[in-house]
Amino acid sequence: MLSDKFDGDSLRRFRKLIDGARRIVFVCHVRPDGDAIGSTSGFCHLLRSLGKEAVVITPDMAPRSLGFLPDSKEIVAYTRYPDFAQRLLEESDLILCCDFNRLSRLDSLEPFVAKAKAPKVLIDHHQDPGDFAEVRFSFPEMSSTCELVFRLICALGLYPELDLDAATCLTTGLITDTRNFSVNCSDPEVYTILIKLLEKGVDKPRIVREALELRSLDSLRLQVYALDHKMEILDSHRAAVITISKEELERFHYQRGDTEGLVNIPLSVEGICSSFFLREDDDCIKVSARSVGNFPVSKVCADLFNGGGHIQASGGEFHGSLEECREILMAGLPAYDSYLPPRNNY
Ligand code: 5GP
Ligand code: MN
Repeated sequence: MLSDKFDGDSLRRFRKLIDGARRIVFVCHVRPDGDAIGSTSGFCHLLRSLGKEAVVITPDMAPRSLGFLPDSKEIVAYTRYPDFAQRLLEESDLILCCDFNRLSRLDSLEPFVAKAKAPKVLIDHHQDPGDFAEVRFSFPEMSSTCELVFRLICALGLYPELDLDAATCLTTGLITDTRNFSVNCSDPEVYTILIKLLEKGVDKPRIVREALELRSLDSLRLQVYALDHKMEILDSHRAAVITISKEELERFHYQRGDTEGLVNIPLSVEGICSSFFLREDDDCIKVSARSVGNFPVSKVCADLFNGGGHIQASGGEFHGSLEECREILMAGLPAYDSYLPPRNNY
């Protein structure tokens, strides 16, 4: 059904770790998205149905748009339950690290995962995986961590045990990371996987509506304001830059997740190859970047904002003022002009 992606030795060691573990903890990156929550919750749900004491710990709260997912109430956010999260990590037999490549992506959860005695397994699709795990499944060419988890489940012979709830979680990450099958989905097997998930009874239109479309009126107004008043177009670099201050966020009663998708919109303008969104959060300036035509925003984010991600979707953090962050981007961008595709291609 699906081509073989895993080496037998890693798979055997992974199976042995699962078989030998009673308490299994899943962790994912800070500011978790549909793929982070979908991959951890989906796999966690399956392992629970096999009798494991499995739990998902996130560094901070998931956005409301993912509240519809099965088991979302059972996710332990470190920012909300720090002592409980620490205890779960200390007492765990196995830690499955999904949808991130470096422990620093765990934010304030990092030290507790780093010092936990349990073996760690990396299950991820970002470039440049760190070597903090005993077993690594790193596949940057895959659409999503949910795709990778689905393939692992099949390779472990567990597809028959996958129920509707777990399938719903995995389909969510596939849908959010591919923007409903419009990016990172050239591999025909992605659609084979979608079919195998739909065969479990997954309601795809509902996931698209809940995870990608539904939003508050305030967030829609914030988006309109951002595009109308706060977007700068850098013609010669074919880039768009949007900055939003804390005061502006508050004006629109900002809630976590409200600006999701905003950074993609400028790319719908012909000729624009990269889009940057700089948001003033409580502890840092959050940088989000997207591109078309293989313009490497991951490189820009790595070089300028200590970040990374995928070539066409990446992010970073900046510690300083919003204006400083904007100036660093403006000053840095010209260095990447050589990566721009020919004018009439995009
Ligand atoms: P988003 O813009 O949706 O927050 O993130 C897009 C992509 O960039 C995701 O794949 C995410 O993992 C990655 N990313 C976002 N923020 C950071 C960051 O601060 N550091 C790194 N290394 N990657 C990030
Ligand atoms: Mn992902």
